[in-house]
Amino acid sequence: MRKCPNGKPIIVLVAEILIFCAIVCAIVVTIVAIRNHIVSNNKEEVETTTKTETTTEIELETETETEIVEVATQKEVETEIETETEPQYISLGVYTITAYCSCEACCSEWSLNRPLDENGNPIVYGASGERLIADYSIAADVGLIPFGETVLINGKEYICHDVGSAIFDNRIDIYMSSHEMALEWGVQNIEIFKVVER
Ligand SMILES: [Zn+2]
Repeated sequence: MRKCPNGKPIIVLVAEILIFCAIVCAIVVTIVAIRNHIVSNNKEEVETTTKTETTTEIELETETETEIVEVATQKEVETEIETETEPQYISLGVYTITAYCSCEACCSEWSLNRPLDENGNPIVYGASGERLIADYSIAADVGLIPFGETVLINGKEYICHDVGSAIFDNRIDIYMSSHEMALEWGVQNIEIFKVVER
């Protein structure tokens, strides 16, 4: 049998080298395995944190949605309350309704020396002191329909701003923008309604 210079047989030396290599390989494999394990653990942690954040975001969104639903519900309640305060219409019976304008034929001496607006049109004030608005202001018997009171004529709201020498009891005069329109209206007998805000 051949021997090395230090006296060991070559086969024993080869075996020792192989065992040494095996141990080194085992150590390297173990180290790599431990490293991989640590990295994967870290990854899981990161994933878990991300999931937690996502869950928190979803919770926040849910809270916001809940708030929106609450606000919507509040608005519905408010709308219901508003619906309850809809105006009430009380019949005042049938009135004889005529129309007038600001001309001398309709207003006699009251039509003279009216102040003019920036467009040169006469400014017409009613007996209430309010400026008359065409197809909205009316003259009435203030004992029955006081100044500022709203009445419904043919489904349209009018407000009492004026009186008239011939306007008493169940008579109303609607202020129009021209004498033509007043003549067009003529005389109409219509059931009118008092508008009451509940
Ligand atoms: Zn007129």
